[in-house]
Amino acid sequence: MATQQRVVRDVGEREARETAEAARETAWVRPSFAKQLYLGDFDLSLIHPHPRAAVDDAVRGDEFLGKLKAYCETLDGLLIEREARVPDEYLAGFAELGVFGIKIPVEYGGLGLPMSYYGRALMLIGSVHPSLGALVSAHQSIGVPEPVKLFGTDEQKQRFLPRCAGGAVTAFLLTEPDVGSDPARMASTATPDGDDYVLDGVKLWTTNGVIAELVVVMARVPEHDGQRGGITAFVVEADSPGITVENRNAFMGLHGIENGVTRFHQVRVPAENRLGREGEGLRIALTTLNTGRLSIPALCAAGGKWCLKIAREWSSERVQWGRPVGKHAAVAEKISFIAATTFALEAVLDLSAQLADAGSKDIRIEAALAKLWSSEMAWKIADELVQIRGGRGYETADSLAARGERAVPAEQVLRDLRINRIFEGSTEIMHLLIAREAVDAHLAAAGDLASADADVRAKARAAVKASGFYAKWLPQLAVGKGSVPTSYAEFGPLASHLRYVERAARRLARQTFYGMSRWQAKLEHRQGFLARIVDIGAELFAMSASCSRAVMLRTDDPVRGESAYELAGVFCEQARLRVDRLFDQLWSNTDDSDRSLADRVLDGRYSWLEDGVIDPSEGTGPWIAGWRPGESKASNQARRYR
Ligand SMILES: Cc1cc2nc3c(=O)[nH]c(=O)nc-3n(C[C@H](O)[C@H](O)[C@H](O)COP(=O)(O)OP(=O)(O)OC[C@H]3O[C@@H](n4cnc5c(N)ncnc54)[C@H](O)[C@@H]3O)c2cc1C
Repeated sequence: MATQQRVVRDVGEREARETAEAARETAWVRPSFAKQLYLGDFDLSLIHPHPRAAVDDAVRGDEFLGKLKAYCETLDGLLIEREARVPDEYLAGFAELGVFGIKIPVEYGGLGLPMSYYGRALMLIGSVHPSLGALVSAHQSIGVPEPVKLFGTDEQKQRFLPRCAGGAVTAFLLTEPDVGSDPARMASTATPDGDDYVLDGVKLWTTNGVIAELVVVMARVPEHDGQRGGITAFVVEADSPGITVENRNAFMGLHGIENGVTRFHQVRVPAENRLGREGEGLRIALTTLNTGRLSIPALCAAGGKWCLKIAREWSSERVQWGRPVGKHAAVAEKISFIAATTFALEAVLDLSAQLADAGSKDIRIEAALAKLWSSEMAWKIADELVQIRGGRGYETADSLAARGERAVPAEQVLRDLRINRIFEGSTEIMHLLIAREAVDAHLAAAGDLASADADVRAKARAAVKASGFYAKWLPQLAVGKGSVPTSYAEFGPLASHLRYVERAARRLARQTFYGMSRWQAKLEHRQGFLARIVDIGAELFAMSASCSRAVMLRTDDPVRGESAYELAGVFCEQARLRVDRLFDQLWSNTDDSDRSLADRVLDGRYSWLEDGVIDPSEGTGPWIAGWRPGESKASNQARRYR
């Protein structure tokens, strides 16, 4: 294959960091449970009593979910899997029900339902086939509706939202061959020309891009007329001259996803389609994701529920060594993990969504934690289900059906869930993003102490200032409600777990402070340490959400509530073991050895270890496909479903 010249915007670490930092929302206008948690202040009143949907929303939402469930029951997920395509009539059916406008306000033709109902709708839709969940989520969480709702002018809302609600599928185009986790490398351009911008570039992995009518595109506006330009968001008509969908991509999972490579060649976009100001594109994308990120937890909770059902039914039916397999301790342990974690997955999702709907709290860290934690846990759940199913776990649903057994797609669910750890912020990037917020107060207090560029005198001045902050803050971490045996008594058997969370939050803040004092500006390179700090906070959030949910469920229905207490209790026991392990690993780990070894691996020192196998991928193409600006030479793969 000929190597193409690559359009590359080569940027260093500093510019990458500065770009991310500039897009960060810095103001904290409303209180945040998770932000306080990382500071050692476990303020349960910020999330408990568990918020609930307004009565009117609940009535309309339940009615919609009833209709949606009835419709979803008529759809065939195995057909989507087999044909790797969503039938057009399924999409038309969704449009008819209003699925493409669940969160769009009624005045713009949408259903105007809150986030919590959107999450429950996604659970239903995603359980038919996760590609459907990805389609609806890419359209409504990050596609055109949400950024237009948040940042569009009145005129833009009037122009775009009714179309979106009516079934115009949309997509969000940020990624490029050379831009993944690092948007500073963005090479697509939007050059001002009269009343228009002219777009050039290639966008990769555009979920819905193949069938979209409208797309949100991020492109770099060059400096012009005294303006700084920068990465900017545009709403673009997908059939504009110069747009070509050059490839429909296929993946390990999510068969049926309409994901493409889209080329823009001299595409004219009127300035009135620009969202926000020039240079605000990344901030718009990140703010959209503040709540947009909750769709992945919804799809993960759906995955957990389905795995639980299959694990229960199969493990009672399958008898080996004289007992149902679920009665063997090794399998029972997995079933317990699946059930307890599924309870927590729903608790994290519903609490985050209800908090978002209530609007009085800042949930940007909670939503990020929900995305990170749910995607990791759901993957483990699916992996355990495959194990419980034994050989049948590895067999496809079609193959099972062909030899007369129930068509259980366990291997498919595992494949489908895998992507959640990668897109909308990979686990590694989520760790950094949340860690940035978790250590924010320390960075502010430390000032130049945490700056790699500050000189010795600046650092000395900063040390004096920081000692003032820490002299007040550190003593507060010595004692708290968690040390008082009667605290949280209203939670009954769950009280001891909440006392643990309170103590762990203070310990977490102290450990963060030790890390900060030890590494100062180098802390950002201690990714193992930061990831553990973040993961501890995620588990504490999940424990708090589970306890709060159990109380809410018991208020509604004492019988169900009692079993919810059991699930929350065992979940907290399991989470505490994980938290204890993470605390131990903060200071006892192989991080330094791993970094050195990885350096030597990259230097080729151990390449002899790769002897004895062949690499069928060698010679098949470059690692990253190049692209040149210019007209497309490929045939257009775009299609419309209506
Ligand atoms: C099925 C699918 C659908 C998608 N849909 C969309 C879409 O609709 N719109 C869109 O714009 N994009 C989409 N994407 C792109 C997706 O968001 C990216 O794949 C994701 O952001 C990761 O980027 P990357 O794949 O280039 O990985 P890279 O950025 O190349 O990262 C490679 C690895 O390095 C790690 N890494 C990178 N930087 C750091 C760092 N600083 N510190 C520690 N670790 C790091 C990453 O976590 C990862 O493990 C989709 C991708 C797929 C596969």
